[in-house]
Amino acid sequence: MSKNDKELSVQNQSALIDAANAAMDKAYAPYSNFHVGAAILAADGTIHSGCNVENAAYPVGNCAEASAISAMVLAGQSKILAIAVAGEGDELCTPCGGCRQRIREFAEPETPILICHPEGLRHKTTLAELLPLSFGPDNLSSTSPI
Ligand SMILES: [Zn+2]
Repeated sequence: MSKNDKELSVQNQSALIDAANAAMDKAYAPYSNFHVGAAILAADGTIHSGCNVENAAYPVGNCAEASAISAMVLAGQSKILAIAVAGEGDELCTPCGGCRQRIREFAEPETPILICHPEGLRHKTTLAELLPLSFGPDNLSSTSPI
């Protein structure tokens, strides 16, 4: 059994959801007023969170998932065991297409993704469900240099 087969513990899941919701409260979203938080459980057991940070020049804003990945990398980690994303509203706050690929860089197809809102978990899925047949680091490592 690989470490990816391990079920996310109830304790870790709860901590991730709490961290994502806490990050959501810190979002800088004066233009959309759509606050998003994300929290990553890294391979060493630490949790790294981030929020969306908008900008008056809209395209240069950052998603919460991207912010959380930056925090994880800054802490010296490079493996996502699970990630929680929290947002308000009636629709599920799933990672955008770009963030699905950003998560893929540090995660496996079976990595759990927890879609949350302030009251808790709404939907549990995996990276493979959100980004099937994904392109990741393994695709490049199997090629030989010219
Ligand atoms: Zn995104």
